[in-house]
Amino acid sequence: MTGSKAEFPKDLLDQIKYIEGLFTVETPKLKEISDHFVNELAKGLDVGLSVEGGSIPMNPTWVMSYPDGYETGTFLALDMGGTNLRVCEITLTDQKSEFDIIQSKYRMPDELKTGSSEELWEYIADCLHQFVETHHGDCSKLDSIPLGFTFSYPATQNYIDEGILQRWTKGFDISGVEGQNVVPMFEAALAKRGVPIKLTALINDTTGTLIASAYTDTKMKIGCIFGTGCNAAYMENAGSIPKLAHMNLPPDTPMAINCEWGAFDNEHKVLPRTPYDLIIDRDSPRPGQQAFEKMIAGLYLGEIFRLVLVDLHDNKDIHIFEGQDITALRRPYSLDASFLSAVEEDPFENLQETYDSFVARLNIKCTLPELEFIRRLAELIGTRAARLSACGVAAVCKKKGYQSCHVGADGSVFNKYPHFKARGAVALREILDWPAKSNPKEEDPVEILAAEDGSGVGAALIAALTLKRVKEGNM
Ligand code: BGC
Ligand code: MG
Repeated sequence: MTGSKAEFPKDLLDQIKYIEGLFTVETPKLKEISDHFVNELAKGLDVGLSVEGGSIPMNPTWVMSYPDGYETGTFLALDMGGTNLRVCEITLTDQKSEFDIIQSKYRMPDELKTGSSEELWEYIADCLHQFVETHHGDCSKLDSIPLGFTFSYPATQNYIDEGILQRWTKGFDISGVEGQNVVPMFEAALAKRGVPIKLTALINDTTGTLIASAYTDTKMKIGCIFGTGCNAAYMENAGSIPKLAHMNLPPDTPMAINCEWGAFDNEHKVLPRTPYDLIIDRDSPRPGQQAFEKMIAGLYLGEIFRLVLVDLHDNKDIHIFEGQDITALRRPYSLDASFLSAVEEDPFENLQETYDSFVARLNIKCTLPELEFIRRLAELIGTRAARLSACGVAAVCKKKGYQSCHVGADGSVFNKYPHFKARGAVALREILDWPAKSNPKEEDPVEILAAEDGSGVGAALIAALTLKRVKEGNM
């Protein structure tokens, strides 16, 4: 271990090597994953493959153009994220690519994620009701406002204002919703309260990110989320989507595809899963689903880390946290990605903050070798996530033949996890075989950049594009 000051007991040192081996994904493997990914993207667009068939869903979204920057109007946007519920009112102004936004956040109580369907829709409708009354007064006197609903789960859409939930992800487990169109459930709850809102478009956060980013930067070709979950969207041509052949769309018709790439390699052909990844999957509400996501997304990073530490402690041949009570560490999902971020951000001198947080959160007093091991473990898990993410981005670029473009990324892991962006960029370079830069300031051919607000501005833009399309009589 470079820079180590600690005297490592032999067992822990061997263990670091072993864990490094498990979590390191070398260049050839990245390339192999990315090549397989390209095939899976195409397979998902093909006819006759169901979600259960194991491929990536590759859901057509009925978002059929990029914005031109001249969209106008006032829209509501609702974002049903994993942690918060956000309601925004967005005005797209006459000024090119400009907008005004007001917003409120409501906490999404954890119980809702595993509660009943009614509770979920009632809660959402209450938040919207409150928002509209706060900003516009008495609901009964208002004309209905168009809404873009960001519903960030895999959904089948035959129309843009439909969303048949394929399956819950990100730890949600609400019965009676999978296989159903969520729009009528949502609308019924609104109608009960007399909230004057018309759902214009149901969108995925990745599609919103793609469209919002393209609004201000025309080089943006892919929208990604690296947050609680992990996924991407990009613009495909109808001619490359065999499963839409029955629609007889002109082959060059643009169609944004929500890849749902979290489901990549559910059949376990290429991803280098560790024993810890298998446990995450086995103990999740949806075993066998979201294989790729479970190695990358924020929901799981802290849990992978926790599982490694518990496993080593329980291994009699390895001496870590010896003689300490690790009851707190045994609680599943007790450490989130922000805990791991903090470990990686701790200045290396003495890892004091890591020491303190292990005491405060877990009642464990770490030795210096243990602290250095913990730091290395966090780096390995964070680095693996970033490198695997790059495989997906590279695959979309290869599929579309993009030699150079911008990728808009959002989500807590992308925005807050230390070095995530830089590590992803290094991996992209390895996968796509770019020559060394002549000048360090030079842009990479494919740059992953912080996106515009997809589930706010993106949702509003998609609602605007939808109304425009309806007005022009194109579906
Ligand atoms: C969902 C996607 C979503 C992603 C990021 C995944 O779990 O299936 O629809 O885009 O999380 O939020
Ligand atoms: Mg032990």
